[in-house]
Amino acid sequence: MRQKIRRILLYVSLFLFPITMNFFSPYVSIDGAFAGVLSGSAMMFVLLFLSGIFFGRAWCGWLCPAGGLAEVAQTVNPKPANAKTLRIVRYCIFAVWFGVLTTGFILAGGIKGLDPLRMTEHYISVDEPVKYIIYYFVLGLFFILDLALGRRGACHGVCWMSPFLTAGMAVGRVLHLPQMRIKAKLEACIDCKKCNNKCPMSIDVNAAVKTGSVKSFDCILCGECVDVCPKNVLSYRKPK
Ligand code: SF4
Ligand code: SF4
Ligand code: SF4
Repeated sequence: MRQKIRRILLYVSLFLFPITMNFFSPYVSIDGAFAGVLSGSAMMFVLLFLSGIFFGRAWCGWLCPAGGLAEVAQTVNPKPANAKTLRIVRYCIFAVWFGVLTTGFILAGGIKGLDPLRMTEHYISVDEPVKYIIYYFVLGLFFILDLALGRRGACHGVCWMSPFLTAGMAVGRVLHLPQMRIKAKLEACIDCKKCNNKCPMSIDVNAAVKTGSVKSFDCILCGECVDVCPKNVLSYRKPK
């Protein structure tokens, strides 16, 4: 039941992507930065950072439109992705983008105003034919990478949003703030590794069980491992 609800949320988010696309756009945030304004997209990245502090990467597992796309692609190519190598590519992309964003704000003399609806028409992102080209390009890119690289390949390899979530997670951990996580009862585990096979982020959950919880910054709190485990070893540890 939990997985059904999760997938429905992801598909609804994917369905709404023509409306929300520009709120996740790196281009919109950079365009705003050079004009000295915090766009809706830049605000979204700040929100992702804040949500990461308490809820880790639950956004990825439950609400991200690209997550819905990844669920579809996973039915075609369920092979695990090479997370370690792809992570290097992702952080290189992020470094370039974040560098340009920061430069924009510096050249503009800082943040002088807010423009939450920048580059949207009445809250709608895809409001004219040319924007459909961008829309299909983004969807196509993520879908092809998911198919080619394995489970959530685009998330591992190109996502410019997840570094904000992981940065929030890191800050929450350093400050010992309450953070949602998957916890484990080691003594009940029978090493069947069903959790490993099911994990969409290709995490070695079985190994994580030995440490008492899943600490990986790749964990998207989807709960697939919790629901597949025949011995109820895994459960959510909610922020207290
Ligand atoms: S990694 Fe990026 S694209 Fe993938 S679900 Fe998370 S925010 Fe969305
Ligand atoms: S599915 Fe459960 S019992 Fe099997 S390896 Fe994972 S945690 Fe252990
Ligand atoms: S470790 Fe469990 S909750 Fe985390 S991503 Fe993997 S299956 Fe989902």
